[in-house]
Amino acid sequence: MAKLKALVKAGVVNNEGYYVVGGRTAIDFANSAQRFDRDGEGLASLEDLLTFLKSQELLHEDEASAFHMYIFQNPERCQQVMDKLHDMRIRFSENLKQASEGWPIDPNFVADLNDLLATYKTKIELVPSDSGYEVKNSLVEEGPEQLLYPILKDMAVFLASDQVEKARVCASDTCELFFVNQSRNGRRRWCSMSTCGNRAKVNAYLKRKEA
Ligand SMILES: [Zn+2]
Repeated sequence: MAKLKALVKAGVVNNEGYYVVGGRTAIDFANSAQRFDRDGEGLASLEDLLTFLKSQELLHEDEASAFHMYIFQNPERCQQVMDKLHDMRIRFSENLKQASEGWPIDPNFVADLNDLLATYKTKIELVPSDSGYEVKNSLVEEGPEQLLYPILKDMAVFLASDQVEKARVCASDTCELFFVNQSRNGRRRWCSMSTCGNRAKVNAYLKRKEA
């Protein structure tokens, strides 16, 4: 627990153990196969997905509990959602890896992402707020499929941004985390200085000492 707290403080993971070195939902999602202190898949169930979305502040606690009923009522439908999610994560990660090596994003992936986004109907409405009204953009249909929407949307926004060419994979041999290199000198090599960066520094020091 102490280690988790230290990593949360260093901005490596959030309280739920999901890596936040990506700095935005799409990249943190690409890294979500791993969860600190957990063996196996980080997003193994719809329950995990609810936790991930809450930890990304994309889902409110009350909303999350409403989604719980799908887990009991329609486990098959939930499984389909998770299968789709895993499929998109694999392909998005492949594209991130390619982008980190200077390759363009695969148009087939873009087309499939577009097809998936097209299955969502949204509505715009005025809702009361503290200072009068605010415009709210929300999904029309309800179901576990809804849970993918904020992730897919951020993926699209990311792919349209200048961050694509700054996508990187951590330089550590034992780490596969993605991040966006936004350092001013463009030299960031590690997912985080407090984990992989530090380990590399210590290893380099030990090597020098041996020599
Ligand atoms: Zn790393």
